[in-house]
Amino acid sequence: MLTVANAIEKLVAEAQPVAMDRRRAGLESVPVPSALGRVLAADITATMDVPPAANSAMDGYAYCAADAVANKFILSLSQRIPAGTVPEPLAPETVARIFTGGEIPPGADTVAMQENCTDNEGAVTLDKKAKAGANIRAQGQDIQAGQVILQAGTRLRAQEMGLLSSVGIAVVDVFKPLKVAIFSTGDELVEPGMPLHAGQIYNSNRATLIGLIESLGMIAVDFGVVPDRQEATEHVLKNAAMRGDVIISAGGVSVGEEDYVRKAVEKVGSMEFWKVAIKPGKPLAFGHVGTTPFIGLPGNPASVFVTFMILARPFLMASQGQLVSSPRPLKAVAQFAKEGETREVYLRGRMTDEGVEVYPNQSSGVLSSACWGDVFVVQKSGESIQVGDLVDVLPYTY
Ligand code: AMP
Ligand code: MG
Repeated sequence: MLTVANAIEKLVAEAQPVAMDRRRAGLESVPVPSALGRVLAADITATMDVPPAANSAMDGYAYCAADAVANKFILSLSQRIPAGTVPEPLAPETVARIFTGGEIPPGADTVAMQENCTDNEGAVTLDKKAKAGANIRAQGQDIQAGQVILQAGTRLRAQEMGLLSSVGIAVVDVFKPLKVAIFSTGDELVEPGMPLHAGQIYNSNRATLIGLIESLGMIAVDFGVVPDRQEATEHVLKNAAMRGDVIISAGGVSVGEEDYVRKAVEKVGSMEFWKVAIKPGKPLAFGHVGTTPFIGLPGNPASVFVTFMILARPFLMASQGQLVSSPRPLKAVAQFAKEGETREVYLRGRMTDEGVEVYPNQSSGVLSSACWGDVFVVQKSGESIQVGDLVDVLPYTY
């Protein structure tokens, strides 16, 4: 049986040809303010320092510390420097009125806060306690020209959009959004909005999958519900392989008589079946239809959430050209006890002031468990958990 870490590694490797194909198929130039969630196609090197010049961190007075000492901390006012103006060199033995973001004039090395200074008709008494060099933001303290500020494969969050803007970059080259063809399987499924008859349930996986995919900045191409029939499943797989960069399905991958996904993939493509030591989540179906990779997730709604987040997500991110690093769990104090299991368990939990608690019903059919909280508690295989133990916690990052 594969460990979760091995499975992720294998999936990320399987994603590389997709990412390469998509690079060959062309990139997109996107204005930075519209690039949220997009993945950089190339390293970004700064061509300037940030800040471009030393500036004041405070509203106050700029002066030369040695002059202040020599003149018993009283100096005459010689200029005014609001942000956005270019200062004159500071006249010897004078101070400049300066405002936050104002450029430090040549000759000054210190800014004293206005609250601690007094201006008596142009004779400014400075703050004796201000240390030489205080309240100055050095040129290049954030970024230096020539520095790689963001690596190819970085998924842009708001802060990266700001960082790119800070070095004057208006447009970036990113990968085109990955197209993820999805379908749900099951004769029992009915779309929300339609009447529910005896024996039927509403299709929840479709909405969950669309949400998860769109949260990654990708496009979900929905092929709807596929009945539990071999030909129908083959048909949708062929269509999905043409329209999507990758295919993800939910349900129908077990070994039951009514589970056709595996058989259909074997017929129209090639199929591998991986036993991954993860709970919830039955064996993961992985294969190809033509050159299009296929992942078959289990049908139970909480299993879909877990296996997508833990297994499908790194695969999709890598297919998108994103750098994927192994998840770094945080530590939290368990407020619950649980017996060890043979598989690695992803318990749906939530953070509290004292630590982490888990939803009482961890059944793979209970989707409420995923809505209740904000983290997975990762229970390693064979390890039991006692109240007070430090456990691994993985926040849902969306
Ligand atoms: P399966 O993997 O097809 O055997 O499905 C496992 C369980 O998940 C069954 O109880 C299904 O009814 C349920 N299930 C499968 N697909 C969905 C779906 N799209 N929405 C809600 N429940 C589902
Ligand atoms: Mg089914």
